[in-house]
Amino acid sequence: MLHVVWFKRDLRLYDHAPLQEAVQSGEPILPIYVAEPSIWQGQELSARHYQFVKESLADLQVSLQKKGGELYVAVGEMEEVLSSIYEKYGAFTLHAHEENGTPHTFDRDKRVHRWMKEKGLLFKEKQHFGVVRRLKSRDDFAEHWENFIRQPLIPVAEDIPCVEEVPSLLTPNFEKLEEFYVGGTRLDRGQTGGERHAHRTFSEFLDRRFESYNFHISKPLASSVSCSRLSPYLAWGNISIRYVTQKTEEKMRECSPKERKHLQGFMSRIHWHCHFIQRIEDDPDISRQTLNPAFDEVRKEWDEQAFRRWYEGKTGIPMIDASMRALHETGWINFRSRAMVVSFICNTLMLDWRKPADALAGLFLDYEPGIHYSQMQMQSGSTGFNTIRIYNPIKQGIEHDPDGAFIRKFIPELRDVPPLFIHEPWKLSDFDALSYPEPIVDVPSANKRARDILWAVKGSKKAKASAEKQLEKHGSRKWKPKKKPEPEEGEQLTLNLF
Ligand SMILES: Cc1cc2nc3c(=O)[nH]c(=O)nc-3n(C[C@H](O)[C@H](O)[C@H](O)COP(=O)(O)OP(=O)(O)OC[C@H]3O[C@@H](n4cnc5c(N)ncnc54)[C@H](O)[C@@H]3O)c2cc1C
Repeated sequence: MLHVVWFKRDLRLYDHAPLQEAVQSGEPILPIYVAEPSIWQGQELSARHYQFVKESLADLQVSLQKKGGELYVAVGEMEEVLSSIYEKYGAFTLHAHEENGTPHTFDRDKRVHRWMKEKGLLFKEKQHFGVVRRLKSRDDFAEHWENFIRQPLIPVAEDIPCVEEVPSLLTPNFEKLEEFYVGGTRLDRGQTGGERHAHRTFSEFLDRRFESYNFHISKPLASSVSCSRLSPYLAWGNISIRYVTQKTEEKMRECSPKERKHLQGFMSRIHWHCHFIQRIEDDPDISRQTLNPAFDEVRKEWDEQAFRRWYEGKTGIPMIDASMRALHETGWINFRSRAMVVSFICNTLMLDWRKPADALAGLFLDYEPGIHYSQMQMQSGSTGFNTIRIYNPIKQGIEHDPDGAFIRKFIPELRDVPPLFIHEPWKLSDFDALSYPEPIVDVPSANKRARDILWAVKGSKKAKASAEKQLEKHGSRKWKPKKKPEPEEGEQLTLNLF
């Protein structure tokens, strides 16, 4: 019988349980990738993600061909593709990883299950992350995570014997994927997709780049080198979370206590990765519904013009504009900058979090639904069980980009502004000559207003009751972030991943 291996956001060969199971059957295999309009079009995904996926598929094809196999692609809905396979081959087993995503992918998977069941066929799904389907209680999450992460890594089989004839919907010619239009912008200078790039990025990190991880984590430029930069590779499955965890722990055993602190900082985030994805697995609606609806009542009426200025990096607040423009150009900014741009649009400007969330998802090359929508809700102060953080981007700039190097890199209009004015250029006597916009808002007074409103909601009976319930369901139990070491001056590496 035929075994179909369905690649989704797990575009790799190494440590791939569904592929291993198919190979172990000893029967012919059909590896497929399907570009589904219902998932890719009119949703938050964008052309830069599609580009990354195509790069990953090309890499996967080379690796599969070395093993005597072949990857086939199609454009269409899964049921159509499965029907065409069924017509040609009759009964088959479908193998895939569980996808922990938004209601779109969740419903698609349910449709595929239904289709397979109606035909009497087996659909075998394997856990992809340390995330548990139908988790009974958050209290058990840490134990499940450990069990998953400690399993042995799965090597790539010597031979991957694939079928040679396929239905006409499927083809090994990837030009087919070009017929498919995905909205949004591509990247000219972002990270490149593929398993090989993922492993190279990780090796470089563990060899050297991690040495200033904690020191530079909030610096907008230096963090582009000192952070792992694994996020798109984890999000599109070019590298497995189990591999990253096990190899980091190996490295931690052999490095000095000082170095170990940096890797501990990194490992906390690897834990958070699955902790947040578990939230969307338990409740896919977190991508649409505010965890604590009491906060919906105080948002301002939608202001499309303010949203556009924010999105295009034209608010007149240099750190916000530099972050948004960096994102458009490179597909990545660090955690602090992400939290700050969200706080600005949702707290300082008091706009609803949903449209900014989808807009940012389209810009982050590493868009991972579970992390993304959880973080959007947290940073916009919409959970009620996290503290409300309202950033002042001027202060953030002075602290983390003191000489304005990040601002100058991404805002050419401000390139020649003296350091004293780089965070508040409107204070320059010849500001009008800069062709840079006036600030959209007076940040300190807007932040004060937001703080008063949001803290009042947080303290209300309604918000507290909802927060308690959500905390029980989604709150972290064991992995509180470890205390950060005192910052010292770390060594600056020359590698520039921006
Ligand atoms: C509003 C907002 C949206 C975000 N959206 C995403 C997203 O769509 N995809 C995404 O991968 N990260 C997201 N993050 C988390 C974080 O900013 C990125 O993971 C990180 O900046 C990626 O760079 P890195 O791989 O070099 O991270 P590192 O610091 O090297 O961390 C290693 C890995 O840990 C995970 N990780 C890091 N920070 C977090 C965190 N706070 N929560 C959960 N997991 C984390 C990521 O998988 C990351 O690749 C978001 C943060 C905010 C504030």
